[in-house]
Amino acid sequence: MLYSVRMRAAQGGPHEAGGRHISGAERIAGAGDLAALATEMLTRALAHSRGRADFINITVEAINAENVRRVPLLPVTTVAVPDVAAGREAAVAQLIKAGVAPAAARQGLAALLGLADSMRGAMLVCAESGRRLDNKALRGVRVSRMDAADPAGLTAFLSRRGLNNAHVREALVLAAKVAAAPGVVAELCWSDDPEYTAGYVASSQGYYRFPYLKPYGSPVGGRVFFVAPGCDQAALIEYLERQPVLVTAPEEESECSL
Ligand code: AMP
Repeated sequence: MLYSVRMRAAQGGPHEAGGRHISGAERIAGAGDLAALATEMLTRALAHSRGRADFINITVEAINAENVRRVPLLPVTTVAVPDVAAGREAAVAQLIKAGVAPAAARQGLAALLGLADSMRGAMLVCAESGRRLDNKALRGVRVSRMDAADPAGLTAFLSRRGLNNAHVREALVLAAKVAAAPGVVAELCWSDDPEYTAGYVASSQGYYRFPYLKPYGSPVGGRVFFVAPGCDQAALIEYLERQPVLVTAPEEESECSL
């Protein structure tokens, strides 16, 4: 039996009562790993650099293993940029390469820059017009029910590339699920962790990391999913929120057989 394990933490009460989002996490695991995962999530929620949570919700829910979809990890490229301004220009260029209209790419970037504080999820933005499509305000659309198919294998894969930190690991899993979503053209993200300045643009073409997309010390992060005009928004949100997905790393099979 597999379980979806999810954590969300806020300060000043639950999110739905206006609490400020502090931290969230998503895993899929077998019964034997649940206690350790819940402890790990609790520790993380209580020690987050965005502040101390006073509301922490951990949900454990069985999922049907037959219903799990497998999607491949995206190839990772780091784009060396010297500062935030260059990082944002390069990110816009990458969004355009992925198929987002130039004005829409700039509007998506401006939407993230316009946030007063971090959302809990992502904005859905039209890849053609740049208009925000979801009506979920600060909650946004939260991608859920995903994990690496082989977490230890993914750790080894990232360690060999000097990229094994929680930000990259979790972002790569989320980006792989999102890039495989029906109607998604590309994603733009930077973290809400004040100490983490890197961000990325992901699409089916790959995951492009930019070491600087926001200034050090900023607690405001966010995600924009650019979607094709005419995409079935209800089906997309259903996939993002509810479809269980395991992400497979390329070397997984050969590593497992060693
Ligand atoms: P993080 O990469 O965890 O620092 O998150 C950066 C921002 O991405 C958050 O402030 C949220 O707006 C958004 N975000 C985080 N987790 C998710 C998720 N599971 N689904 C959609 N958006 C998310």
